[in-house]
Amino acid sequence: MIDYNPIKQFKIYQAGHCTHPGCVAEKGCGIEPREFPAYVALIEHERYGLILFDTGYDPEFFVQTRSFPESLYARTTPVTLPVPLVEQLLADGIDQKVIRHLVLSHFHADHIAGLKRFTEATFVADERGYRKLMTMGRWRQVMQGFLKGLLPSDFESRTAFVNDYPDSVRSILRLDAWKYCNLQAAPLFKDGSTYLVNLPGHAAGHIGLLFRMNGKWVLLCGDAYWTQGNLDPGGNGRPSWLARLIMDSPRQFDTTLDAIVRLRLDAGDRLKVIGSHDSSIAQGNPTLEFV
Ligand SMILES: [Zn+2]
Repeated sequence: MIDYNPIKQFKIYQAGHCTHPGCVAEKGCGIEPREFPAYVALIEHERYGLILFDTGYDPEFFVQTRSFPESLYARTTPVTLPVPLVEQLLADGIDQKVIRHLVLSHFHADHIAGLKRFTEATFVADERGYRKLMTMGRWRQVMQGFLKGLLPSDFESRTAFVNDYPDSVRSILRLDAWKYCNLQAAPLFKDGSTYLVNLPGHAAGHIGLLFRMNGKWVLLCGDAYWTQGNLDPGGNGRPSWLARLIMDSPRQFDTTLDAIVRLRLDAGDRLKVIGSHDSSIAQGNPTLEFV
């Protein structure tokens, strides 16, 4: 059987970075400030057009963090944004209006700050995560890394919410079932090429995007891991207790990360795993274009 491969290329853009001590993201990395890039991914489906995974930082982040308590967010994670994403896309000949789907890995500001720039896209997000944030007051939302003012006023009417993840990622990748280390997915399109993957733990409603290109699979996994050390099969380079304080569920974060580590081991070079802040992905491929 020949696999259908409707995704021909994808490119990763860096939409700013924040700075905080390396040891927060990975135990043993020291307290020196380290830059964490905010990566977003653009993939092109031959039938469904351009799909963006997250937006990274945006000038709107600075607008929304002028007032208190939102200003606490900007003060604890200083942000630098040399060139906004929409300008980088335009430089590649892509007007924001042609982005048809914008998948949100989760609602932290470093992933959704640019939502208002994308006026035509259908947003795709996990519904339980969104509803959970909506039950919280302003202070708790900020403590959860969510700045409500970043959402466009028509956010709910433009969003395709996902509630159910019926498919096993291991069976999508044709791997044997692994009872305690599985991930579940929902098809984004019905052609078997692209799935939303439930990756709970880091934040409410945290999801990834799995797609097949040139016969191999790519898992964009948002903040399910941050550094290559986090992916150590022996579990030695896991995030610090400080990072765990702001997680939606540290226990689920570990279960999700265990499942990703196991999946990588079993799929070998048939699977590439890419995290939103993993600067190592630029090594050996500085243009961040994958064809
Ligand atoms: Zn993040």
